[in-house]
Amino acid sequence: MNIVIGPKEERKLISGYFTVANIFCSKCNEEMGWIYIRAFEATQRYKEGKCILEKAKLMKEY
Ligand SMILES: [Zn+2]
Repeated sequence: MNIVIGPKEERKLISGYFTVANIFCSKCNEEMGWIYIRAFEATQRYKEGKCILEKAKLMKEY
């Protein structure tokens, strides 16, 4: 999948604080979801690098 990663930002989620970034389609620039860049808590580090895709948008595209 071709994605572009936007600016990093800190976000407070239910599971703690994370550095995240929105991700965009490299073809049409539409926002597709976001990615965990860094977890502040060790127990959440397994999420680093994982994308959260917004399925409704994916279905529209494919
Ligand atoms: Zn696209």
